[in-house]
Amino acid sequence: MSKRPCIIAANWKMYKTLHESKDFMRAVLPKLSGVQAEVLIAAPFTSIAAVAAMAEESSVQIGAQNMNDASEGAFTGEVAAKMVKDAGATFVILGHSERRKLFGESSELVNLKLKRSFEEGLRPIVCIGETKEDRMSGKIEEVLGDQLSKSLSGLNPDQAKQVVLAYEPVWAIGTGDVATPKQAQETQKFCREWVQKTFGEEVASRMPILYGGSVKGSNAKELLEMEDIDGALVGGASLKPDSFLEIVQAVPVNVSA
Ligand code: PEP
Repeated sequence: MSKRPCIIAANWKMYKTLHESKDFMRAVLPKLSGVQAEVLIAAPFTSIAAVAAMAEESSVQIGAQNMNDASEGAFTGEVAAKMVKDAGATFVILGHSERRKLFGESSELVNLKLKRSFEEGLRPIVCIGETKEDRMSGKIEEVLGDQLSKSLSGLNPDQAKQVVLAYEPVWAIGTGDVATPKQAQETQKFCREWVQKTFGEEVASRMPILYGGSVKGSNAKELLEMEDIDGALVGGASLKPDSFLEIVQAVPVNVSA
């Protein structure tokens, strides 16, 4: 199986004012020409329109970190997929472990959001991952299999082809405790095999599976060289231009966007 194009996706979480977001773009955009990766930035809702306008002449894609599953309605404080699309987002992160843990998002809700993202033409990045306890008790495949089957339920192969998966072990997010390339590869191979059994070989061979969890410039290359790791979802190290650029520049040259 040949490797797929590499995606480096920044997740700014609840960081960066509008001003700070623009400063980041001004620092990073001129340094991205000729990079080996497809660069995505999931900005806070309040910055999407401005950074999308700044990225217009570049290949950088801007996205959201969440959205509501309804088309529109009386849901005070929520943001609809068509609103983020209209602001310039082309993709959306769904089911991040912080959403699952802190805001009680289930895989069933992720599935509803996923279907809405297709309707509105947003490319979904669907996050899955096990906790430390799941790993210690040998339940990685059971937990990930459950998240995958519920989150991706009811998709046809054409929809499945548009999904980007992000394997993010919960114990590695924001902890500095990065998975070893071997651990990440083994688990992502399991995910690809699951996709192959469910949606077929063509979908499995094309689906990008990103690794997320304490990725930084010094560990990115060895992770990205693994057969089933097609990119990285980056939190902490995506907040500063230099640390983000270090990751983008660590993409191995034989892995192209
Ligand atoms: C994330 O938030 O998706 C993430 C991977 O965070 P960090 O890189 O900080 O571990």
